[in-house]
Amino acid sequence: MAECIFCKIVRGEMPCFKMYENEYVLAFADINPISKGHTLIVPKKHFESLWEIQDEDLSAIHLASRKLAHAIRESLKPLGLAALQLNGKGANQVVMHYHLHLIPRLGGSPSLPMTEWEFKPGNRDAIRETAQKIAAAVK
Ligand code: 5GP
Ligand code: ZN
Repeated sequence: MAECIFCKIVRGEMPCFKMYENEYVLAFADINPISKGHTLIVPKKHFESLWEIQDEDLSAIHLASRKLAHAIRESLKPLGLAALQLNGKGANQVVMHYHLHLIPRLGGSPSLPMTEWEFKPGNRDAIRETAQKIAAAVK
């Protein structure tokens, strides 16, 4: 897509700090890092979100995520690593080109904000009803 920032990065029309690429994917440093080592992995083809991305591109992203996770662990020795992927403006997706965030948490750094939520038991009937609704829609 002509105006898409990540398509421009893939085409080499905008700079990035590249970490890895293969036929399907490109991995580079997030320019507004939440933590040291914050990495983005994008498909080279333009897909907006998880609802559009094709099987082979999605598989390639996740295989690359494991490769990058090993590289991050070896180079930065983080306490842990979050993989985060947002779909749709309602979930705060800002760049509308599919991307997976790898966000390491290093020693001495505060916990990652998006990884903390309170465990509060839900209503079992409501949970079952929703699960059944989704299950019935699986294709
Ligand atoms: P989203 O909220 O869509 O999951 O996150 C988009 C991410 O893309 C943000 O973390 C943001 O910092 C990153 N980003 C936006 N524009 C650029 C850019 O031009 N270069 C790089 N490297 N990252 C970008
Ligand atoms: Zn794009």
